[in-house]
Formats: sequence, C-alpha cells, structure tokens
Amino acid sequence: MPDGTIIKGIGGFYYVKADEKIYECKARGIFRKDAVTPLSGDSVKISVINEEKKLGNIDEILTRSIELVRPAVANVNQIVIVIAIKSPQPDMALLDKLLITAGLKDIDAVICINKIDLDDENEFDKISEIYSKAGYKVILTSSKTNHGFEDLLKILEGKITAFAGQSGVGKSTILNFITQSMAMQTGEVSRKLERGKHTTRHAELIELKNGGYVVDTPGFSSYELDEVEFDHLELYYPEFSNYLNKCRFTWCSHISEPECAIKEALGNGDIDKSRYDRYVQFYTDLKSNKEYRSKDAKVKK
Ligand code: GDP
Ligand code: ZN
Repeated sequence: MPDGTIIKGIGGFYYVKADEKIYECKARGIFRKDAVTPLSGDSVKISVINEEKKLGNIDEILTRSIELVRPAVANVNQIVIVIAIKSPQPDMALLDKLLITAGLKDIDAVICINKIDLDDENEFDKISEIYSKAGYKVILTSSKTNHGFEDLLKILEGKITAFAGQSGVGKSTILNFITQSMAMQTGEVSRKLERGKHTTRHAELIELKNGGYVVDTPGFSSYELDEVEFDHLELYYPEFSNYLNKCRFTWCSHISEPECAIKEALGNGDIDKSRYDRYVQFYTDLKSNKEYRSKDAKVKK
C-alpha cells in the first residue's frame, strides 16, 4: 500500500503520484467509509491493482491539514498573493484579507507584486517596503520581462502552492510560464491550462521539476473575512506582535483605548497607517456582523 498524493481528479478517476509513478485510481469504498470526497492535494494510501497499466484503488485519505474551497484542493501550505502595481490598481483590502486568512489557517503567504514593467516611478518600492517591514516575503515580478521569476520558482520548491488575487493581475500568465518551463513532463496528465472552459473543474496539482506542486487554478479574486473573530484579528498582523502585550488594557482593541502600544507605534511610524486603517475597518465590520448575527439569533428564539 504505497502512500501518494492526488494530483488530479476527473470523472471519478483520481491520478495519484506514488513512488515516482502516476496511478489511475478509483476510490471504491472511501465514500461509504469516510464520507469524504477525495481532493487534489490529498495524501492517500492506495493499493496497486495492475502495475503494468498503472491502475490502483484509493483505500484511505489521510487527515487533511487544510481544505480550500475555491479552488477545491487539500493540503495547500503556501499561498502566493498576486497584485499588479497598475492595471488593475492593487486592491489592498483584498491583499490584507488574504494575508489574514493565510495566518488564520497557518499557510505561508508570499506577496507577488507583478507588472513592475508598467511602473516607471518605482511605486512598488513603497508597497514592498510596507509589507516587508510588516514581516512578509515580497517578490517583484513582470511576466513581460520575466523579472523576478527565479525568485518565484525558488519559493515554490518543496511546497504545495496556490495563487490568489484579483482578476487581471497576471495569475494565469505566471502559472502558464511555470507550467511550460518548470513542470515535470510525465506525459500522462495534460499540462495545458484550460482556462474558463469548464465551469466545474477540479483543481489539478502541477508537479515542478525542483520538487513541489502548484495548483493550476487560481482562486480568491474576491474574498470576505468571515472565519475570523474580531477580537482575534490583531493576531494576524505580524507587525503588531511586539506591541500586543504592552497596551494598558489586555482587551485593548487598539482603536479608542488610552495608552495603546499599537497606536503609539503608529504615531512613531513603526506601523503603517494604511494597514492600520484597514485593520480598524475590518475590526468594525467583523464586530458589527457578529452583533447583528447574535441579535438575529435572539429574535428567532
Ligand atoms: P489573471 O486574471 O490574474 O489570471 O490575469 P492574466 O494572466 O489573464 O493577465 C491579465 C492581463 O495582464 C493579460 O493581458 C496579460 O498579458 C497582462 N499581464 C500579465 N502579467 C503582466 C506583466 O507582468 N506586465 C504587463 N505589462 N502585463 C501583464
Ligand atoms: Zn492597544
């Protein structure tokens, strides 16, 4: 029973990479036993039915660390959030929401600032500095000039990475480049991206020559924070972490309380004002959503 990774699922068949080979598997019994549907990214135990034809059966799905919904994929441990420096203008709220969610789910986050070829004024420096200082890894790319692609490929090594970000920023272009230049050529699984052809496609993992996988379907072009508790929001701002236990009140929301270490750091310029302003916005929205929901629940009783 070799262990493997599901790299693709089509019409009830799952393609499982195990022992450097790809087996076409069914998942007989799994649905009944575990009531789960296998996903790309799942670690599985398979039994080989026919070694020559590379046929097998999935006997067990190992515990998932993480399950993403859009795209549907399991065990992603890195997310590359792509923004464009221009056309479209970067959606900084979406960027921060995705960073917060990655933090919540314990997924490594990397920010990719793309289309730097369009930026004559080096505006990317400002964003890059804010986020590097906050503690994130930032890379600068252009799919026009291939600038930064070496850095990008390096961070993909050994991880299962999904690309995310608003539409038009260059995710598909970047993924196509990776697919064409860095994918393993096994010949068994079609490597061509089929953008927009099917409405319900399963995500596929593309295996990279230097180890690691990328998810072929980018996700999260818009996103709402709904899994985060408003009073935990502060935990997902790495630049806050040095100050959190220094506020006068342990329950400080860092918005209107006196002797707040976060606001002090903001005043000193140690915390970026635009990041802080969005924190206040998210906090306020999450809190009022929660109050609204609990009122609603009371009315229903
Ligand atoms: P997606 O919606 O995020 O998948 O974005 P696409 O990959 O479809 O790219 C949107 C448009 O931006 C396309 O016309 C690309 O050719 C263009 N594009 C992508 N990357 C770059 C870049 O680095 N520089 C420039 N100038 N254009 C780019
Ligand atoms: Zn505070």
